[in-house]
Amino acid sequence: MEMFIPTRLLIGKGIVRENRHLFPEFGKKALIVTGKSSAQKSGALSDVTEALSSQGIAFRIFDEVENNPSVKTCYNGGRIAKEFGAEFIIAIGGGSPMDAAKAIATFATNEIEPLDIFGAEVKKEPLPLLSAPLTAGTGSEVTPYSVLTVPEIENKKSFTHRSCFSKIAFLDPDYLASLPRPVLLDTTADALSHAIESMLTRRTSMVSKVYAEAALNRLGEAIPGVIAGDPDFEALLLASSLAGMAISHTGTIIVHSMGYLLTYYKDVPHGRANALLLPGFLEGCQKHIPDRLAPVLSAYGASSLGALLADIKQLTAEFTKLTEEEVQTFAHKAIGAKNVPQNLWPLEEADEARIFATLL
Ligand code: NAP
Ligand code: FE
Repeated sequence: MEMFIPTRLLIGKGIVRENRHLFPEFGKKALIVTGKSSAQKSGALSDVTEALSSQGIAFRIFDEVENNPSVKTCYNGGRIAKEFGAEFIIAIGGGSPMDAAKAIATFATNEIEPLDIFGAEVKKEPLPLLSAPLTAGTGSEVTPYSVLTVPEIENKKSFTHRSCFSKIAFLDPDYLASLPRPVLLDTTADALSHAIESMLTRRTSMVSKVYAEAALNRLGEAIPGVIAGDPDFEALLLASSLAGMAISHTGTIIVHSMGYLLTYYKDVPHGRANALLLPGFLEGCQKHIPDRLAPVLSAYGASSLGALLADIKQLTAEFTKLTEEEVQTFAHKAIGAKNVPQNLWPLEEADEARIFATLL
């Protein structure tokens, strides 16, 4: 068993401004990695650039990260980091910019081809990474994972590097006030899915359970506020980071690998894909491993599976329908995912088809 979360987590309103003196430790030149507009809308970009300027740190902004970032975008970002001579990377965004920043930090120091990022060719340490999450969902600020879109395999694929943990994560609840409601619902469902999946895999350990149960506890308290339109962003950020710490120890399981196909082929946002697949997966758990499901329900504070499923339904911003053909094609592809053997009950293609078929 191992416990390893090397990220310094700083939480609170105005946390970047308050801690501007921490930036110079990482160098004199920073590449800021972000999406199209969330960094400006949230106020995080101006906080970070003012902090850098006040410390005499030069910066460049790479704002080309799309949702579900492609390897190609990250490769380009890596080239820009090299050209600029960046000594460290600052990610500002949801999971997409935070994951892209990990790949950019890796391409910046390794002379490799784009797809080599998934293999043993990565020999040099990535640039140090600092993160400011703008969503409370992926937990990417405290995971070593980067999930990238790879058209060559028509799917998403992740790479992991121990040094891709952020050195510092700045969690400012004010940055989440600009979240559109569907993104808030999707990302909350993602955090919930991480905590649940981490509890229900062969990799669950005493250590991972501490984080996952703490996350479920907070999510159980915070989700009614999300549904009611009165979210407690600080509680959600902490819950999402705790769930991220849980999956840093266990990885995710089939809800995620199946969900990647909904995202790739049907353009379903990541967290929503999890929300759509969780009910079918949890019903399978109820049938095959009720003893393992019980602590999940109790940590969340749900009196029954039905109560948890009712909340998941409310977090599902929009339903996506599949055709019979899609159900079969996706199940055939999903059964090859590397996390399938981690499922706690024997899982066959027909079981995955049954879960996808809940979307017929
Ligand atoms: P996202 O793709 O980062 O962002 C979704 C949308 O919301 C974007 O249009 C973004 O705008 C906008 N947005 C984000 N924060 C905002 C804010 N505060 N105010 C206004 N708009 C905001 O969404 P995400 O769900 O956080 O990340 C999903 C990605 O993370 C997926 O690729 C998924 O596979 C990955 N993921 C990674 C891990 C991990 O462990 N590393 C775990 C789970 C999921 P902009 O375009 O302007 O940014
Ligand atoms: Fe996720």
